[in-house]
Amino acid sequence: MTQIDQVDIAVIGAGLGGAAAAALLLNAGFSVHTFEQAPEFTRLGAGIHIGPNVMKIFRQIGLEKRLEEIGSHPDFWFSRDGLTGDYLSKIPLGDYAKKEYGASYITIHRGDLHAEQINALPQDTVHFDHRLTDIEERDSDVLLTFANGNKVAAKLVVGADGINSMIREKLLGVEKPRYSGWIGHRALVNMDKLRASGVDLEPCVKWWWEQSRHIMTYATKNDQSEHYYVTGVPVDSWDHEASFVDSSREEMEAIFGGSHPVVQALIDATETVTKWPFWNRDVMNLWSQGRLVMLGDACHPMRPHMAQGACMAIEDAAVLTRALSISGMEDYASAFKTYEATRHARATKVQTISNANTWLKEPEDPAWVYAYDPMTADLA
Ligand SMILES: Cc1cc2nc3c(=O)[nH]c(=O)nc-3n(C[C@H](O)[C@H](O)[C@H](O)COP(=O)(O)OP(=O)(O)OC[C@H]3O[C@@H](n4cnc5c(N)ncnc54)[C@H](O)[C@@H]3O)c2cc1C
Repeated sequence: MTQIDQVDIAVIGAGLGGAAAAALLLNAGFSVHTFEQAPEFTRLGAGIHIGPNVMKIFRQIGLEKRLEEIGSHPDFWFSRDGLTGDYLSKIPLGDYAKKEYGASYITIHRGDLHAEQINALPQDTVHFDHRLTDIEERDSDVLLTFANGNKVAAKLVVGADGINSMIREKLLGVEKPRYSGWIGHRALVNMDKLRASGVDLEPCVKWWWEQSRHIMTYATKNDQSEHYYVTGVPVDSWDHEASFVDSSREEMEAIFGGSHPVVQALIDATETVTKWPFWNRDVMNLWSQGRLVMLGDACHPMRPHMAQGACMAIEDAAVLTRALSISGMEDYASAFKTYEATRHARATKVQTISNANTWLKEPEDPAWVYAYDPMTADLA
């Protein structure tokens, strides 16, 4: 790829939030390049929920139909007692979501979603193997230095670089994220074993025990041929350097074994399972300064229990694009102000509920999350 040295908007990080920001900003007519530290993306074993609030954004990007074809469409989000199997809540999704919230609710393999997002971008605007290492703010631009030696001058910089964001560090100083006291196990299960168990496979269900310990399990493909689980387990400390480590069926058995037959079937169908620490930060009240602005986990990381972390990053991308479209590049200061004022309360509310892990455990109306339309919502 030809090396560029000047861009209008540089998006740092081509994760779910960064890829969405790049697509939306490009669609709005801005000149955008995206810089990602990874040499490439692989299909890691994990699923993700995408709510109707964000499917409306994918409609704008032109990916809604494709994601609907690939993803699973659960009719309900069930919450069930881990021991008795009693239903604690049954939150209607499926056709109800389409009608009431204005778009589908899907669960999908994260790698499949991400691949669609990356492939939708003009490939000469996505620069892999570009780890940002230095930021120099100058009078009329920002000089970005990457670990591979490349330097790029950008008029505006969108920090979509996740919880360990360099942009956050530039604005707020060096501060490691805090271990939340919780870990999550993630596994794609062996479907032959799972089917052979004869249990009734619900497409989206969260099993709860004491202290909100849980397993959430759902299908990641439209034909239900792939099922995934993710847990939330309180653990005093995380003593590994790596971002995740291997777990085992034995460890799953020790934590969740002997409970409901469906949970037991999931454990028995486990072959490869990893465990991940959940990191956190306090609410940040500075999301932008000068020509730098952040979105997603860079400015509001959260425990994943509402299944809305990436959704909030993508909502941020939509609102930031709308604000910049109104103000234009030159008046980026107004755009960043509007963006932050529009997004802060909503992202903080989602962050707070996610961290408390209470979402949809009891019957409640999720319309304030799912019916929201980031493409048309009032800007502050
Ligand atoms: C177990 C688990 C389950 C989850 N389930 C859901 C769910 O169901 N639904 C949901 O909406 N959310 C879910 N989330 C949350 C979601 O994964 C995150 O909120 C989301 O990925 C944040 O997106 P982001 O783009 O802000 O950051 P990231 O996805 O972290 O992307 C940041 C990108 O920036 C790159 N980068 C970092 N530093 C640099 C640098 N210096 N230079 C260049 N590139 C850099 C990284 O390589 C990465 O590609 C879950 C999270 C976890 C841990």
